[in-house]
Formats: sequence, structure tokens, C-alpha cells
Amino acid sequence: MIIALKPGVSREDIIKLTSDLENLGVKVDSSQGASQIVLGLVGDTTVINDEALRANHLVERVIRVQEPYKRANRAFHPMDTVLEFKSGDKTAKVGGGSFAVIAGPCSVESREQLVSVAEAVKKSGAAFLRGGAFKPRTSPYSFQGMGCEGIDLLVEAKKATGLPIVTELMEISQLELFEDVDMIQVGARNMQNFNLLKELGRSKKPILLKRGMASTMTELLMAAEYVMAGGNSRIVLCERGIRGFDNFTRNILDLAIVPALKKKTHLPVIVDPSHATGLSWMVPAMSKAAIASGADGIIVEVHNDPEHALCDGEQSLTPEKFENLMGVLRKYAEIEGKTI
Ligand code: PEP
Ligand code: MN
Repeated sequence: MIIALKPGVSREDIIKLTSDLENLGVKVDSSQGASQIVLGLVGDTTVINDEALRANHLVERVIRVQEPYKRANRAFHPMDTVLEFKSGDKTAKVGGGSFAVIAGPCSVESREQLVSVAEAVKKSGAAFLRGGAFKPRTSPYSFQGMGCEGIDLLVEAKKATGLPIVTELMEISQLELFEDVDMIQVGARNMQNFNLLKELGRSKKPILLKRGMASTMTELLMAAEYVMAGGNSRIVLCERGIRGFDNFTRNILDLAIVPALKKKTHLPVIVDPSHATGLSWMVPAMSKAAIASGADGIIVEVHNDPEHALCDGEQSLTPEKFENLMGVLRKYAEIEGKTI
């Protein structure tokens, strides 16, 4: 971090500011420019409050050289993080050369629906089963999910198929119900629910953290940093589309964030082509594009009867379409040197 001081700052003020900064654990080097002093800070500057510095009457400019996130930063952790999920004699992985396919309905609607979709996606080669039990819906009059009963059905489907399960947690009081859930999803609407992120930092469960619909890459990484700062570094990041001006698709799939994230962080990155496009016919193209962009997997909605789905039918693949997609994805994965 570089701090340019205002011209004419007194020696006493510089000594005081330097010692305040050094008390935060960083080393401060000062150099005299033509008309002003410039301070160079070396060390862990994540603890420094930029805003307070900018408001300081001695300071003209503050330039951050390093990102404000440390634990999620590839610079401090060059090796890829790989998450492993043991289920029976199988181990599903996210990151590290595997392309993880997470598939299932938007919402758990009934035992028949979930069992039928779970068996179908398993047969086609999905590594994880998804399904929402607690649903964040725009309208309070829409189906809100089956709640605890939905979690029970997911656990049943996990026992029947051996697939690890991924489902969304909307508030921390629900955590006790997630004991048998393998990966907890934090949805786009909760990406900056900092109290929730802090609590999940204390939990031992892997977290699927979806990008907020108007969040920058740094905000997504800072959200991951919240969880990691609490002690939980088993996080998967997910690009699920952001808001744009064109409503032809439900959201705008920002695939360019995938290589950018892979450069900035060691955490695995997956893509959600279903919520990104909102249209099932676009899901195969965007799934292939996700592999090509370097993603570590996808999370896709599949429904046995999309026309009658209680949530997100328009973007849900039928089991047959999903089966076809998996055939194509295997070839794409091979080109990228990944295994499905
Ligand atoms: C979902 O995965 O069903 C979901 C609600 O996703 P998002 O938070 O990305 O909208
Ligand atoms: Mn959905």
C-alpha cells in the first residue's frame, strides 16, 4: 500500500502516523518526493482501514497495491484448493482436474419428483445432487420450498443414489437441519449477508458461494474471505449471471470472471448456466462454454416435468436433455484435460 501525504506535513505528524501504522503490524518506508512524502507499507495490509486513511487530514492519496483479501488470494496460496466428498466407496471432487457436475431440480417438490430426478442424473454421470428446500422467491405468494421435509427427502435421495447433496441455507437458524447436507449453498441474494458468512466460517461444511446479482469480483472474493476468516476454507465460488440491461436472458452470464477468478484465487470456480440464462435451450451451449472458460464444474437444473415445475421450469433440462449434454461435456472435458 502506498500513501501519498499532503505537501507540508510536519515531521511530528509523519512520525505519529508511521508509528500508528507500525502498531498495526506493517513496516513503513518513507521517501521524499519533489513536494511531498510518500509512505510505502509492506506486510499484511488487509488489516488497514483504507477509508479512515483517506479521511485522514494528512493524507492525499491511498493506493492499494495488493488485494484486500488474503486467505482467498492465490498469491499467498498458489496451489489449487480441491474439495473432496466421500460417499460410500466413491469420492467426488471439486477442483484439481475434475469437472464437477451438480444437477437436480430447482426445488424439492415431492419424493417421486426427487427420486426420479436423482436417479436420472446419477445414471447420466452427475457427481452431486442439487435441490432447494428453502427457496428465496421474489414473490411471497410463490412456492417457498418444502423446508425441513425437503431436506429429509434430499437425505433419502443421497442414501438411495450415493450422490452428495447440495442445498441452500437462507438463515443461520436452519444450520442444525443441514447436518447430513454435504455442501451448503449461499445464494446470490445472501452473498453479502455478513452475519451468515461469519457463522458459516465457524462451521466445517463446504460452502457453495454464489455471486450476488450485482456484485463485483472483489466483492465475491471478500465474501469468501469472510467465511475463510472464520476458519472455513472449503469454498466453491459460483458465477450465476449478473444483472444487465438486456432481459432477453434472465441474467447476463459473465464467463470472463472464470479465468479472472482462477488467476486471483485458489478456490474452485463453477458456473450456473441455468440461472444465468433462464432458458433451458441455452444451457447446453453455456455449459460447454463454461468448460472452455476453465471452470471446475457446473450446477444445472434438471426436472422430470419442467412444464409443471413449481419453480424455474423454463430453465430446467429434462433428464433426456441432461443425458445428451453429459455425452457432449465428456468430450469437451477431455479437450480441457479434465475428468467428469
Ligand atoms: C438456486 O440455485 O436455486 C438459486 C436460487 O440460485 P441463485 O441464488 O443463484 O439465484
Ligand atoms: Mn432455481
